[in-house]
Amino acid sequence: MGDRIVMVGAGLSGAVIGRRLAEAGHAVTVMDARPHVAGNCHTERDAETGVMMHVYGPHIFHTDDEGVWDYVNRFANFLPYKNRVKSTTQGQVFSLPINLHTINQFYGRTMRPEEARDFIATQADKSITDPQSFEEQALAFVGRDLYEAFFKGYTEKQWGCSPAELPASILKRLPVRFNYDDNYFFHRFQGMPEDGYTAMVEHILDHPGITVHLDTRFERKQAEGWDHVFWSGPLDGFYGFDLGRLGYRTLDFERFRAMGDWQGCAVMNYGDPQVPQTRITEHKHFSPWEEHEGSVLYRETSRACGPDDIPYYPIRLVEEKALLNDYVERALNEQNVTFVGRLGTYRYLDMDVTIREAMTAADTFLDARRSGRAM
Ligand code: UDP
Repeated sequence: MGDRIVMVGAGLSGAVIGRRLAEAGHAVTVMDARPHVAGNCHTERDAETGVMMHVYGPHIFHTDDEGVWDYVNRFANFLPYKNRVKSTTQGQVFSLPINLHTINQFYGRTMRPEEARDFIATQADKSITDPQSFEEQALAFVGRDLYEAFFKGYTEKQWGCSPAELPASILKRLPVRFNYDDNYFFHRFQGMPEDGYTAMVEHILDHPGITVHLDTRFERKQAEGWDHVFWSGPLDGFYGFDLGRLGYRTLDFERFRAMGDWQGCAVMNYGDPQVPQTRITEHKHFSPWEEHEGSVLYRETSRACGPDDIPYYPIRLVEEKALLNDYVERALNEQNVTFVGRLGTYRYLDMDVTIREAMTAADTFLDARRSGRAM
């Protein structure tokens, strides 16, 4: 007989772990407080236009991990999709990530790759030898003009603080290219599930060993009724926030509809600090193989996450790190509870990394069970 496992959260972590454990013969109950599976990558069709919407903002699947790519393709038909982002800043529209087109347009030049590389080197701040913050990293990398046009205003709006206070790792998500490649990601595999992420997660959860309860909250005191708990909710939420709240940014989406093609691309970023939105998303462009007359868009703004808001981005500033350490120490001492995913480990995780870590968490659990170790 297998164990009785409860998975708290029906997002990517919950679904992938649940499936592995169910396939290994355990009885898995998945609970999610929301009325749908798939967490923040939930997709649903807009009732009026029929457009497939990324309800909690844009999610583009990209990975270098062949195992993860094979895995998602078992449960969804992925169609080719390249994320090509634009940025409106200082009165013009530019191509992102910063590439040769962006550089030539920005400086009114016609440089070839090596000329642009040499030119950007003259712009970069050479006094910064060991960049610590997002700001230092950007100044050392592309210089003040490009930093102010593309990163400073956007980042202040997105994170609600100065880029001087943010870790350099956030900027490292964005490449700078000295050719005309405007693919936002450099991973080998990239695509969009034809029927949306929610259908994919439903397929992952579709196993006789898995029972799903939506609109269902799990309280820590219920843990005793189970052999093991996998918790993909907020780490601090597991403890009723008793040491304080870990900081998150939440997003607001102002939804509006239009006819035809409103902005001509899926994602338009806004670099100017005086424009309130960070970006506008036109969802129909995420499914270029479909045709819709109407269009539905999100004007996205970011703010500090309150107790009743949906947490999106872990902030991880100095203050959070100390609190995080206290919670992590407690979490490590838990018997029969494993914390997983973006919220459970308080990290800014892409979907592919979430899936890989979920596979590993499930395998660690199965190995421990096979060898009779406690977890
Ligand atoms: N960023 C920026 N300008 C842009 C896009 C991104 O300054 O036009 C910065 C910003 O701080 C953002 C980070 O780079 O939080 C990571 O960007 P990414 O596009 O990966 O963000 P996500 O889509 O995950 O929100």
